[in-house]
Amino acid sequence: VGSGIIGIYGFSRLWKMARFLYYGLMALQHRGQETCGIVTSAGNGNLYHHKAPGLVDQVFSEPKIIEALKGWMGIGCVTAMPEKELGKIQPALVEGPQKVALCFDGKILNVKELTGRVKPFVPQSEAELFAALFSRELEEKHPLDAMAELMKTVKGVYSTVILTGKGEMVAARDPRGVKPLTIGSFGFDYGVVASESCAVDVIGADFKSDLKPGEIYYFDSQSIKRKQAVKPQPSYCAFEHVYLARPDSWINGSSVYNARMEIGKRLAKENPVRDAEVVLGVPETAIPFAVAYSNETGTPLGLGFVQTGRRVRSAIKPTQFERLVGVQLKLNPIKTAMAGKKIVLVDDSVVRGTTTKNTVSLMRNRMGAKEIHVRVGSPRLVASCPYGTEVPPEDELIAANLTPGEVGKVVGADSFHWLSLRGLTDALGIPKSRLCLGCFSGKYPLPPEEGGADDGR
Ligand code: SF4
Repeated sequence: VGSGIIGIYGFSRLWKMARFLYYGLMALQHRGQETCGIVTSAGNGNLYHHKAPGLVDQVFSEPKIIEALKGWMGIGCVTAMPEKELGKIQPALVEGPQKVALCFDGKILNVKELTGRVKPFVPQSEAELFAALFSRELEEKHPLDAMAELMKTVKGVYSTVILTGKGEMVAARDPRGVKPLTIGSFGFDYGVVASESCAVDVIGADFKSDLKPGEIYYFDSQSIKRKQAVKPQPSYCAFEHVYLARPDSWINGSSVYNARMEIGKRLAKENPVRDAEVVLGVPETAIPFAVAYSNETGTPLGLGFVQTGRRVRSAIKPTQFERLVGVQLKLNPIKTAMAGKKIVLVDDSVVRGTTTKNTVSLMRNRMGAKEIHVRVGSPRLVASCPYGTEVPPEDELIAANLTPGEVGKVVGADSFHWLSLRGLTDALGIPKSRLCLGCFSGKYPLPPEEGGADDGR
């Protein structure tokens, strides 16, 4: 299940971090829209918390909720959690042996083995399991060493941020660094870690860098310490760069906006449409692709769609019904931008094909488009994600079952092209050996099955 996480540590008791966490979570809302929560600490042994299903501005709409979250440090999380799991909203809280709160973005692959270690406690979620393991390690170890120990025993991919009852904060990224985690600061006033640098920006801090895979940061009232616990073996999630992250973020040393502009350029080079009259990008992820495609080919850029209401990501909404509603809500086509024209329609990804089919049919039949040539800014999506990103099972993925020509026919396009895998890695400027490309290739850096231990690359 996808998540966005943030932790802020103030070095003065005068700070009230709940409001900053709220703003940070608003900037991470695109990473999960089903639940959210904040836990804060004033270093007095209490952990103040509020968490609920809903969007950040709904769950924290009352000023008194934020005021009750006392303290100069805290963590927060948004998740795309399926409805049946709503009882397990993050941050996870574990009372003993040591009190900890934890936000977790990722997937544990050896749950069964690890659950045995925390008996008789029965964790209700992977976040709670991780929190319980950490709490036990804390009995005997410094938080930095406790986390280093977990890096050896927990198989999986994760970024996490933890608050202890003693008023310390710990952040860590697994040795593969599949999930992003960035760090920033506001002078010597506070430090921040967040899934994406856009959250560091909105709270007024300066983005510093990514946490390296296998790196741990520790904050207490005196200092910030770091430890490279395990040698980095990067397998950065390529899908973050194509689709999941916000274009104003930097992740894995790369600007998401620049990468998306490069993708658009490569789409234009790989399969340009001759004599097209206009390029239209599907909001919002595909807009930079379309801009770059237009720049590269000289085909004028148009504004084809306006989003209705809230920003809804149809691909990460959990139920089929909501997905359909999401599609309808998402795009309102502008008829005058497309009537009678030969159009290049640039999209960010095609998953089941239903959204693209609906869009193409709407454009042709109701908006009067003459020709529609679909160009997709991600490679063929052929396999699911074993690491928590909601990609549907293989039998539902249109690219896993049909050739590009057949997909074009199914969605009703005059021509159809996916970005090549090579085009993607070139655009990101990150070597293939340092990326997870699992959902585009079916090859995963860590075996997806429970208990998988070694490198499958
Ligand atoms: S399988 Fe796909 S979505 Fe999952 S981590 Fe790898 S690239 Fe990202």
